[in-house]
Amino acid sequence: MPILVMKFGGTSVATLDRIRRAAKRVGMEVANGYDVIVIVSAMSGETNKLVGYVSETSPLYDAREYDAVVSSGENVTAGLMALTLQEMGVPARSWQGWQVPINTTSAHSAARFIDIPRDNIDAKFAEGFKVAVVAGFQGVSAEGRITTLGRGGSDTTAVAFAAAFGAERCDIYTDVDGVYTTDPRISSKARKLDKIAFEEMLELASLGAKVLQTRSVELAMRYNVKLRVLSSFEEPSEGAGTLVCAEELIMESKAVSGIAFSRDEAKMTVVTIEDRPGIAAAIFGPLAEAGVNVDMIVQNVSEQGYQGHKEGVTDMTFSCPIDQLKRAEKALLDARDAGTIKFDRLEADTDVCKVSVVGIGMRSHAGVASKMFETLSNEGINIKVIATSEIKISVLIDRKYMELAVQALHDAFELEKA
Ligand code: ADP
Ligand code: ASP
Ligand code: MG
Repeated sequence: MPILVMKFGGTSVATLDRIRRAAKRVGMEVANGYDVIVIVSAMSGETNKLVGYVSETSPLYDAREYDAVVSSGENVTAGLMALTLQEMGVPARSWQGWQVPINTTSAHSAARFIDIPRDNIDAKFAEGFKVAVVAGFQGVSAEGRITTLGRGGSDTTAVAFAAAFGAERCDIYTDVDGVYTTDPRISSKARKLDKIAFEEMLELASLGAKVLQTRSVELAMRYNVKLRVLSSFEEPSEGAGTLVCAEELIMESKAVSGIAFSRDEAKMTVVTIEDRPGIAAAIFGPLAEAGVNVDMIVQNVSEQGYQGHKEGVTDMTFSCPIDQLKRAEKALLDARDAGTIKFDRLEADTDVCKVSVVGIGMRSHAGVASKMFETLSNEGINIKVIATSEIKISVLIDRKYMELAVQALHDAFELEKA
């Protein structure tokens, strides 16, 4: 039997009624002749609640117990989905990660897949079960402890199963009917894309578009999984949703395909450091060791005699996720105490956000950066840091301008037009 993977996100399994709706959709695919692997998220809001319980119980929690608690939301929906399918007369059973087993690294709360042996689930399909309902987001480490894959990780579970079982397709059912030019919650002009290239989706996801977890796109690209994003609230139709696919399948591409944003950014400036070979390594080495994910970096022009100093001195500015700012600060102060770097002070800015334009078309269209900067300038938005790659340009700006910037850029690059 051909295999199909269907993943239902939190809002799609938020109530028993919605689980029934999702189960009906699964039943239809079984009737179409598929053996189906269903991946479920926890009911919406559930994982946040569990994270809250853990933090309240133990602020510096044991990561293994964190995973034991926060993975449990998916166990509930997996069981309920299997029961609902059984009630509909579809032979189904639930699987927790360790039962499959979904083998992962032991990096708790950020585990990665090692392998997913097919034998147990295949044996059940051979016995006549039509649906395997697998709890998303979780796995088991070599030490036999429950692991989780990071927030939004059920998307990655789905793609990993599609790759492991050679599924015909991996359908991600969510609360929007596809991938849009930007988050439809931010811009009413956002337009649904019929197709998007893996590379573009990867950039959008890693730059803040949470419709797919970044790692899921990476896996889909590596294993060439046919990945589709669609709504669990709309009636199924031919060509529904957005296909995430190889670049070659996209006929023409505009310079910019989409806009992503992230609120959870912070900027830090290391003020008055010596301008000498090795200074960047001296700063970013300790940050890397402390596990700070530095994103954008600028070193300003050095000036002799700057701020009354005789030697060449400079400032270094970088951005990182806002929840890593304290860790960054500690790493730099410790390095200064240890004498490996000298600086006057650290300046933190937590009222920033990152807005990015993404498109494979940028490779062949010139002038994207200038258009972006001009558009922001026309709105009176100051750019604090810039970063570019072959297919994206990101800027760090004041957070209060985020919506305005996204909307202005959406207009400027005419993304509402097909
Ligand atoms: P699920 O619970 O199904 O995993 P998520 O909340 O994780 O759903 O992801 C879906 C949400 O992603 C949408 O409701 C939407 O607000 C947001 N989103 C952000 N960027 C985009 C985009 N470019 N296209 C579609 N949705 C987006
Ligand atoms: N329930 C988990 C989360 O909220 C995983 C997921 O839904 O993908 O992050
Ligand atoms: Mg999600």
